[in-house]
Amino acid sequence: MEDCIFCKIVKKGEANYWKVCENESVYAFLDINPVNEYHTLIIPKRHYEDIFDTPEDELIKVMSVVKKITMLYNTKLGIKNVQIINSSGPEAQQDVFHTHFHIVPRRHGDNQDV
Ligand code: 5GP
Ligand code: ZN
Repeated sequence: MEDCIFCKIVKKGEANYWKVCENESVYAFLDINPVNEYHTLIIPKRHYEDIFDTPEDELIKVMSVVKKITMLYNTKLGIKNVQIINSSGPEAQQDVFHTHFHIVPRRHGDNQDV
């Protein structure tokens, strides 16, 4: 998808914000407009619009990286509370139409809406 910002990030091989990690199928990088420190986005490298058109095997690969990153943040950064969020569809507040999951670290009293 030529006009998809997340496809551009994958194609360039670098996020326009901090890259966290990648493997053959999945790319993870920090959100450019973070709700909290270490707010991270995890995406399949292939373009799918949302949860509805993303095949199950791709979702499993993405979720495996979500788990690895949350454990890394937990053990290395002491992050003990996270929200894992996927928005699918405009009425669900999806803004970027390339399937992605958010990891949003939460802290006592931060009170931020995602
Ligand atoms: P959504 O609202 O679709 O679930 O989330 C899209 C997220 O992508 C937002 O949190 C937004 O800040 C983030 N985002 C949008 N454009 C870019 C970008 O160019 N680079 C990065 N790193 N994050 C982006
Ligand atoms: Zn895309």
